[in-house]
Amino acid sequence: MDLKGKIAFVTGGGSGIGAAISKQLDQAGASVVVFDLNEEAKEITRSFENESLFTKGNVAKSEDVNRAVEEAMNKFGRIDILVNNAGIFRDKKLVDMSEEEWNGVLDVNLKGAFLIIKKIAPLMKQSGYGKIVNISSVSHKGNFGQANYSASKAGLVSLTNTAALELAPEITVNSIAPGSIDTPLFRSMDEKGKEKFLKKIPMKRVGQPEEIAQAVLFFSSDASSYVTGTLLEVDGGLTTG
Ligand code: NAD
Repeated sequence: MDLKGKIAFVTGGGSGIGAAISKQLDQAGASVVVFDLNEEAKEITRSFENESLFTKGNVAKSEDVNRAVEEAMNKFGRIDILVNNAGIFRDKKLVDMSEEEWNGVLDVNLKGAFLIIKKIAPLMKQSGYGKIVNISSVSHKGNFGQANYSASKAGLVSLTNTAALELAPEITVNSIAPGSIDTPLFRSMDEKGKEKFLKKIPMKRVGQPEEIAQAVLFFSSDASSYVTGTLLEVDGGLTTG
């Protein structure tokens, strides 16, 4: 895919799936803005071939989002691609889940994407071009111990569809539901949880972050010019049948 000259904004772009997405966007020729809560995420931009920007902040705070987008606009003057990838989980059975654990996950995984789309979509509309990709999860269908996470990821699919309707025709908005992907987030899951996923995967292995990044590249490029409001499951067959 050729993304030469495009400007991409990736949340949580310094680790795991986000790092693979940022790298592949850079390799395809885009300038990448990495927006991440973790200062160490800055490291990734050192390996980029194209001009890039690291900006630290919390996707769940509108003041951080607004400042980061303004920084990106001051440097590049345009944002063509937005990848809402930042996400966290705080697993617990729902009766044991605190209000803080519910709010914390919903704030990052769902409100964060809302705040960023709200800020960036008008800029994309103005330029007449935009590609938005939201990283949901196969857990959007509901998953034991993940009431907050699953609800946030289902919300993200719904937000994708509404945004696709409201932002057409200039902007396409699609979501990806990764299955079990080999990242720090997945590795931090308890062994029982990991085993449960592995048993159910027809392809008998976890996915690699690069395999999610390839799907992001499709939705970020003109190869997907007539695709909007869809959900692509990249899960080794986990949710089939
Ligand atoms: P990760 O923990 O490796 O990376 C997440 C990144 O997001 C980190 O760099 C972190 O600093 C950043 N981040 C966290 N909270 C933030 C905030 N409030 N503001 C800005 N940045 C923040 O996770 P990952 O496994 O690469 O997951 C990436 C996305 O993929 C998440 O949305 C996750 O829900 C989704 N996902 C992952 C898997 C999996 O198996 N790993 C499966 C399905 C979906």
